[in-house]
This record gives sequence, structure tokens and C-alpha cells, in this order.
Amino acid sequence: MAEPDEPLKTDDANKWRWILSSGWHGRCPRCGEGHMFASWLKVTERCDACGLDYRFAAPDDGPAFFSLCIIAFPLAFVIVWLEVMFDPPIWVHLFTSVPIMLFGCLLPLRPIKGWLVASQYVNRAQEAGTQGLWAKLHGSDASRSEFDQ
Ligand SMILES: [Zn+2]
Repeated sequence: MAEPDEPLKTDDANKWRWILSSGWHGRCPRCGEGHMFASWLKVTERCDACGLDYRFAAPDDGPAFFSLCIIAFPLAFVIVWLEVMFDPPIWVHLFTSVPIMLFGCLLPLRPIKGWLVASQYVNRAQEAGTQGLWAKLHGSDASRSEFDQ
């Protein structure tokens, strides 16, 4: 597994490469060294390398949404196709369709969450006008961006 290869750059192609790489590897979107996840899907509180505060991270149900739309929906067609083409006994679905659906939807959750968090960091995505409120909630410095603390 390779590390995200280069530090954060500002042009779009590099930005995308950085987001994809750090999200895929679960690495800190600021330094590319520390771990983004404390467990399977739990985002850590601070980067163990550069100290980035992950309280900005709010992917919410984004990973589940994208997993459903991008993976579960097409997989459902594959399973229906399997049923229509081969008309297998129901137990065949237990050993094909159920694991395909389970692993197909669960495995991508972590990289999708990583991409969303990295994208949020790189694009400084925060609800407009909420910087003061975030600072109040987190007891952080309102004059500095939530992403720089
Ligand atoms: Zn870091």
C-alpha cells in the first residue's frame, strides 16, 4: 500500500489525486501521514502525526447514501439478472446474492467516508456562516478556520 505521494497542492488535478489517495488509504488529509480512522468507520479525534482536529468532519450518512446509490442499486440488477437467467434454487442466493450484497455495500463504506472527510478538508467545506457557531461549540478560536486548528 502506497502512501499519498505528494503534499497538498492547490490545482484541481492534484487536489483530486490527494483526496482519492488519502481517503483510500485512510490517511490524514493535511499531512498524509497520520491515520484518519480510530476504528473501522470511526473518524479519529486528532491526527496522530500533525494534530489535525477532526471535529470538522461531518460526512453524516453520506457513505451509506453513496454505497446504496453506486453499489447496491447496480448489484440488485445483477441479482435479478441471476434469478431471471438461471432461475436457481433459493439457497443459491444465500451463497451468492447475500454475500455479494453484504460485502459489496459494507466494504466501500470506509474509503467513501475517507473521501468525504478528505474532500471536506481540502475544499474547506463547512455550512456557510457557521464558523462562529462551530468555534463556540468546540471552544476553539473563532478567528481561525476550523480546518487550521
Ligand atoms: Zn495529519
